[in-house]
Formats: sequence, structure tokens, C-alpha cells
Amino acid sequence: MASPSARGQVPARLQYGVQLLFVTEEQFFSAGQLSPANSQALRLEVLLAEDEATATVIDENGTCILKCFLNRDTECCRVGKESVLIARGRSTALLKFESHAEFSAFSNILKRCRNQKKECSVFSQRTEEASAAQYFQFYGCISQQQNMMQDFVRTATYHRAILQNHSDFRDKVVLDVGCGLGILSFFAVQAGTKKVYAVEASSVAQYAEILVKNNQLSDKIIVLPGKMEEISLPEAVDVIISEPMGYMLFNERMLESYLHSKKWLKSNGTMFPTFSDIHLAPFSDEQLYMEHYSRANFWYQQCFYGVNLSSLRGAAIDEYFRQPIVDTFDVRILMARTIKYTVNFLDAKEEDLHRVEIPFVFQMVQSGLIHGLAFWFDVAFVGSLVTVWLSTAATEPLTHWYQVRCLLQTPLFAKEGETLSGKVLLVANKQQSYDIQIVALVNQTGFRSGNVLDLKNPFFRFA
Ligand code: SAH
Repeated sequence: MASPSARGQVPARLQYGVQLLFVTEEQFFSAGQLSPANSQALRLEVLLAEDEATATVIDENGTCILKCFLNRDTECCRVGKESVLIARGRSTALLKFESHAEFSAFSNILKRCRNQKKECSVFSQRTEEASAAQYFQFYGCISQQQNMMQDFVRTATYHRAILQNHSDFRDKVVLDVGCGLGILSFFAVQAGTKKVYAVEASSVAQYAEILVKNNQLSDKIIVLPGKMEEISLPEAVDVIISEPMGYMLFNERMLESYLHSKKWLKSNGTMFPTFSDIHLAPFSDEQLYMEHYSRANFWYQQCFYGVNLSSLRGAAIDEYFRQPIVDTFDVRILMARTIKYTVNFLDAKEEDLHRVEIPFVFQMVQSGLIHGLAFWFDVAFVGSLVTVWLSTAATEPLTHWYQVRCLLQTPLFAKEGETLSGKVLLVANKQQSYDIQIVALVNQTGFRSGNVLDLKNPFFRFA
């Protein structure tokens, strides 16, 4: 969007007579008529439902002293370092928090309810609302979080990477991007972390909070409900931990949120994972290819309840071929040594992931029909003590990421020793995913093929 001054307009200069006063929290609270509503210790409870919340202040006996509804019409303002004023009809409530971290968590909720950052956040600009709603609803299910937590290879490798590098965590401040139920934050505390800010945009944030309380770690793990791109932290962090990998590494576009979070990382800070390699190799799998055609055979029928469907067979085949296939395979189907493309999380910027171009030249080690390209990824946790790898290769124990294969529209014949060159182009879209374009050429024969696929809509083929 072009700002008015960019179009040559002179900005209006307005002037007002003012008085300037600086008020510290101490002065504010010591002012004559202000007195605490209650001398007992009070508890503030916030019930967050999407973008609205109810805040209730309760005394030691459970009596409600204040109740206010927080939404986009709520008027509020920060006072000093850790207090906030909330206007409610004729009176105004002043809440003073016990710590800056608690103030910060509450003010993020206020921001979210007041819709302040939403409209212009990096996340909302790159994401269609419907996509985000469906995405966070999915992760809002305990069962989906359980599914990931039960991926033993994934969770145990993160555990090992963090605990074996305890010196990177001891007495440090950590940010957990997309904490889910907070499992990685708990690992960080086990490794000696002083404080973890655990950011989660889906509604499981409330369950993370319950786990934190029940494990008596409220002083160490601060759950911040909201999107990484829209949250403020009270301080910079030493380490960022996250599990942002989707199918084919890039699906979900959460790597961008992970990279975005570096705005809170100290200049010498660490990231776990530190970098990722996506691998690709050509494969031969006649059965898979035929299967895709057979799926479309339904549309061959000329008398389906008296209706001729055959005019849609071409469109059905196109649709099936646009689907990347998620499953696993025997590595003997691979016809060349892999090519890898590295994303270094310490160096990369969000924009680097808007368009990812992976050129390839494969030297064939077998003769046969190439039906497509297979993809998988590894991530590395480069700690001060050890480097730990998490691999989703077909040669390694299976994970919930499986492997992903993209078919070519027509198979390509190549002989051992020949080369297959071309490129994979991944273009990010507003559905938190990528459009995949593949072009491939057998250099010695000039045979060409390719395909365009939609990573948002994969075909889950595993049993
Ligand atoms: N860290 C947890 C969950 C990983 S799944 C674990 O390892 O088990 C990724 C989580 O990140 C999901 O719960 C999802 O809701 C959350 N997430 C994705 N994008 C986010 C964003 N931009 N801001 C905050 N949370 C996000």
C-alpha cells in the first residue's frame, strides 16, 4: 500500500497546547484517592474465547471483585512497567501485576481482543482467514497434539537434543514458538532453563497453561496465547525452540513464523533446530503411477445411474496428479543419489521462503522409467555440546511426516549414467502452503516432463 507522502502529498502538521507529566507507577498508586479494592491477595482469571475474553478478579475466598469483558471496544492503557488501566463504564480499574511476565501475557490478550495488531500482522497478510481458522482449529484438538507427542522419533529426538545440550539452556531465557501443549518448554526447563515464553495461537494454549500449573512450573513457563507474529515478549531470549516442520518440510508455512520470531533473539542466540536439509531424488514406481490413473477410472463410466461421466475423466486425472503423495517406500525405488537444499534458520529471512527454487542434476544409477521426485527432510540441532539430527528419510524409522512423492505427468525413460536435470519451484500461497512446479529433462535424449502440484491437498496413501 502506498502511503500518502509517497504520492507527493504534504503531510498535515497539527499543533496543540499541552502539559507534559511523567507518572511512575509508585506515584500513581500513592495518589490520595486511589486505594486497592481489597487488601487480600487477588487472582486475575481470564477466559479466552477466540478474540474475546472475560477477565475476573477473585479474592482468596473465591469472591468475584471485578468482572470485565474484553473485546475490540475495550478501552485500556498501560501504566508504567507492569500495570494496566481498563475503562469500564463510569469507573476505571487499575491492575498492577506481580511480574512483568504476567503483565506481558495479559497485555497480549488485551491486544488480541482489541484486534490491534491483527489486521496488519505479517501472519494475517500472508494467510487467508479461512485457512488460518481451519489450521488453528486442527491444532486446537488435544488429539492432534497427542498424535505429534506420540511420534516417538520426533519427541525423543527433541528431548535428547535439548537435554544433551543442557549448557545452552541452563539459566537461559527461551522462546517456544507454537508450543502446543508445551512439551518442548518442559524439556527446556528440565535442561535448566530459567524462563520459557511459550507462544501458541490455537486454543490448546489453555491446556498448556493447565499442564504448567499442575506441574508447578508457573514461575518458569509463561504461556502466551496468540500468534507469534502478533505477540510481544517482555524481554529478548537466548534460545528459540520450535517444531515448525510440515509435510515436505515447507507445508503450513510455519517455518516463516519460526524465522519471524528471531526478532526476539539476542544477537548471539541459538535456534533449535538450527538448520534443515530437504532432500530429493528421482524414483520409479509403476504401481503408484497406475494407481493414480485407476482412481480416475470411475469417471470412465458412461452409464452411472444413467449419466455419462466420461467427459470429466481428464479433469479427474489432472486433479489426482496435482496431489503430492504422502507415504513411505522402499529406498530401492530411488534412481540417483539425492540432491539437498539447506535452510539455515540462523541466517534465513521469512522472505527467503516465499519462493524456493531447487535446481537439480541427477546422475542416474539405474535404467528405467522415472515416475517422479521423492522428497524428505532432516533437521539438525547444533548445540554447544553435541549436534543431534532428526531425519525423516525412508532409511530411518518412520515419523508422522512420512515421505512425500510428486509424480511427473508423463514418466521419463533414462539409462544408467544419463543425467536428469531441471528444477523444483515452490511458491508460497495464502493457504499456508505451496504451489509446486517441477520441470525435468533427460539431457542425453531431450525427453522432457514436469508437473504442477498443490501441497495443500496431499493424498495420504499410507495404510
Ligand atoms: N511444540 C509442540 C507443537 C508443535 S505443532 C510440540 O512439539 O508438540 C505446531 C504448533 O504451532 C501448533 O500447535 C500450532 O497451533 C502452533 N502454531 C503454528 N503457527 C503459529 C503461529 N504463527 N503462532 C503461534 N503458534 C503457531
